[in-house]
Amino acid sequence: MDWEADARERLERVPFFIRKRVKKQIEEFVRDQGGRLVTGYDVTLARRALAGGQADSGQHSREKAGGVLTAGELSGIEDLVEKGVSVEGLKTPHHEVRVCGGAAGCPLSLIDDRAVSTALAGVLNASGLDRHIAGGIDGPVLFHHKFRVTVSGCPNSCSQPQIVDFGVVGQSVPGRGEGHCTGCGLCAGVCAEKAVSVREDGPVFDYSRCQNCGQCIRSCPADAVREADSGYRVMAGGKLGRHPRLAEVVLELADEQRIKAVLEGAVRLFRAEGMDGERFAAMVDRLGMDRVKEVLRDVGKC
Ligand code: SF4
Ligand code: SF4
Ligand code: SF4
Repeated sequence: MDWEADARERLERVPFFIRKRVKKQIEEFVRDQGGRLVTGYDVTLARRALAGGQADSGQHSREKAGGVLTAGELSGIEDLVEKGVSVEGLKTPHHEVRVCGGAAGCPLSLIDDRAVSTALAGVLNASGLDRHIAGGIDGPVLFHHKFRVTVSGCPNSCSQPQIVDFGVVGQSVPGRGEGHCTGCGLCAGVCAEKAVSVREDGPVFDYSRCQNCGQCIRSCPADAVREADSGYRVMAGGKLGRHPRLAEVVLELADEQRIKAVLEGAVRLFRAEGMDGERFAAMVDRLGMDRVKEVLRDVGKC
């Protein structure tokens, strides 16, 4: 079915992991109305109808939607993916831990987002970070003064660990499984990095391209791909503002104990070396990322 430009634009804003299903629902709705083209107005009507509200058609029931997401649920997931999830106890006026939509059930998440974010918030709460930030600022604490941590359930990194002080990202490394490869090609088909090729004796992984997203592991119906390793990527030193800088990778495939130790180390360094009112990422710039990485990798050896 054809889509008008503004309708297509709205569809593009739907998180990718449910976009196909949403597209199907809207097209079914328009078809039921006898339409052949999806307009922006149709998208609005379809969403209302699917939410069970003033369905202008009155015909498109939840049942008809086949038990898939309603528009209300969809808006909720859009919010969760775009803005993160609010988890109790993760914020103070001086720091915050933000979580991606994995905490609300994004099927691509490789980790227990809530548990990890709660553990990291515990580290920040016990670290004396808030006193350090408050002590260095005259006047109100503004958004850019906050120490910001984000957790992403997978390498898609929806909570934007690249632009915050400290970020962790779930990782899952694929390897050959015990099962017999049938050559179906599903694993290669789902890999957005073109890091899997299927040979006669089974799948082969190009680890220089692989992003450790675990998709190929999930896709294999024959158990011929398995998880060979897992953990968290740890990133530090990102910020936006007047002088933006991207966070850099400090550790790959770290376990929970190590990410907590590295966060503790980052706050210790910040308290010892950060100047009054200086942001963590600005301190990283001043000290040099190499030195900061060295300190953090050292504490992360535990
Ligand atoms: S980072 Fe991954 S798990 Fe989290 S919302 Fe994005 S796609 Fe889902
Ligand atoms: S883990 Fe992800 S990026 Fe790596 S080979 Fe599998 S699908 Fe591709
Ligand atoms: S590894 Fe699994 S998904 Fe990939 S081609 Fe073989 S059977 Fe299919």
